[in-house]
Amino acid sequence: MALTIVILNQQSLMVARQIQAALPDTLIYGLESRIPAAEVEASFANFGDSLRQLFAEGQPIVGICAAGILIRTLASQISDKRQEPPVLAVAEDGSTVVPLLGGLQGVNELARQIAAALNVSPAITTAGDLRFQTALLSPPAGYTLANPDDAKAFISNLLSGATLKLEGAASWLSESQLPFAENAALTVRVTEYIPNHSPDCLTYHPKTLAISMNPRATDHPSALIAQALSAANLSPASAAVLVAPLNQAADPGVHAAAANLQVPARFLPAASPELLARAAVGASGRLLVSEPDYAIAVADLPLDPASIGQPQGQLAIVGTGPGSAEWMSPQVQQLLQAATDWVGYSTYLDLVEPLRQGQQRHDSDNRVELERAKLALNLAAAGRSVALISSGDPGIYAMAAAVFEVLETPEPAWEQIQIQVAPGISALQAAAARVGAPIGHDFCAISLSDILKPWEVIERRIAAAAEADFVIAFYNPLSKQRSWQLEQAIAILRRYRQPDTPVLLARDVGRPAESVTLRTLATFAPAEVDMRTLVLIGSSKTRTIAHPNGVWLYTPRRYDL
Ligand code: SAH
Repeated sequence: MALTIVILNQQSLMVARQIQAALPDTLIYGLESRIPAAEVEASFANFGDSLRQLFAEGQPIVGICAAGILIRTLASQISDKRQEPPVLAVAEDGSTVVPLLGGLQGVNELARQIAAALNVSPAITTAGDLRFQTALLSPPAGYTLANPDDAKAFISNLLSGATLKLEGAASWLSESQLPFAENAALTVRVTEYIPNHSPDCLTYHPKTLAISMNPRATDHPSALIAQALSAANLSPASAAVLVAPLNQAADPGVHAAAANLQVPARFLPAASPELLARAAVGASGRLLVSEPDYAIAVADLPLDPASIGQPQGQLAIVGTGPGSAEWMSPQVQQLLQAATDWVGYSTYLDLVEPLRQGQQRHDSDNRVELERAKLALNLAAAGRSVALISSGDPGIYAMAAAVFEVLETPEPAWEQIQIQVAPGISALQAAAARVGAPIGHDFCAISLSDILKPWEVIERRIAAAAEADFVIAFYNPLSKQRSWQLEQAIAILRRYRQPDTPVLLARDVGRPAESVTLRTLATFAPAEVDMRTLVLIGSSKTRTIAHPNGVWLYTPRRYDL
């Protein structure tokens, strides 16, 4: 997580920059009234509020100020030492580095790095850390301390001179400066097995177990795995990964069992549980349990699940709304962030480009919708997390239907993908919102594009909708290739509706070039319309209300008005 250096005056800037140069991902925050905004990454007005907010967010903090200022500011927030982020005070002249809080989050290590950058010795006061150069309480990633409640007494025994022995293997322990001795009274043990409890032994569970299963074998996969571990006396804390055959990646049981174990589910080409477990731990691993429906294998070092097979592929078909980010749902924003790959028409990808953080773009032309849908499905089948991007709502004249059209001729690999559709605000809703409530009563949408459906069908539908007195939204009203359809559509409407029927032309709604124009059936001219316009035709009830800056357009819900 990024380190934030908080400074209160310009003299501190040099020391801050020295620290920043040595530690990647460091931001400098300056007090607005004393340090010009251009000289720092961000400014704050209120020191106390800003510091408490950073602390509450769990951000590591370096204050270039007196330790007392930090202590007094954060005092009311200090409650849980397992949660608190590292907080350090550094003297304004860089002569001292004092770790204050966050012992379990590596504050002493941070203090050493900062002190090295400033060429001074850190003022480390945690006796256990000083003596042993290792934090027994916060083991490195891949190891879990099974009995933290025993650690305090254990460490104080060490501090009063007791020695310890190591059972099992872990270089972070064997290479530490802990006082190892033969025949020691205390023990640190590294094991996958559930220990008999003893306050004289700290047990660390390494995440070395790969558990494989055949999800079709049971209705209760979580219980099956829990029983399998318990029968072998293995700790769930040592589970690193759940592996299953790729052709069962969509099985909810696998995901339930993985969630229950708090490990990722990964998938390998179909094979027996024994072979899957062996494949997951690699050649240096060993098989511990092999049953027809599950197997457990152990690796010699903690496993990296990301390097095993692939995850279940994800396809999120998202609608980004008509334009501006404020009209994009939080769900869509979250899915865009979580994706590894973005697939879409270049214009829509460009609209969301400011949100891109490392996702791979797969641009395509507007026309090739089915190919685009296949590309998205194939990427997801290979284990990627794909966002297929439409503007507006993805289910309205957009990519969701293209995906399901492709899925009508299924491929086995696609059946293992998790597919979801995330809705968006459609152009129709956005245009209506700009002028009042024109779709307050029955309405319909008709696409004037005759690329995928015959013009005769469209004509009949317009006539039927006009006769039924719907408010009508025309999507895809015209394009360079389709110039005459809108004119014809209007001619049909004129047979059923009065010349003074309101017609709304909403172009680029929610985008910088937005324009919204009100006409009537009589004054309407297709020349004002292009493919970025939504045309909304009022019903016989749709009316306007004048207001000082223009008119509202609305369709009453009642027929007695
Ligand atoms: N899925 C989109 C519609 C795609 S069809 C949605 O739900 O909005 C493309 C048509 O939608 C365009 O020809 C135009 O008629 C309309 N449209 C899309 N975005 C628009 C916008 N920002 N302003 C006005 N019309 C828009």
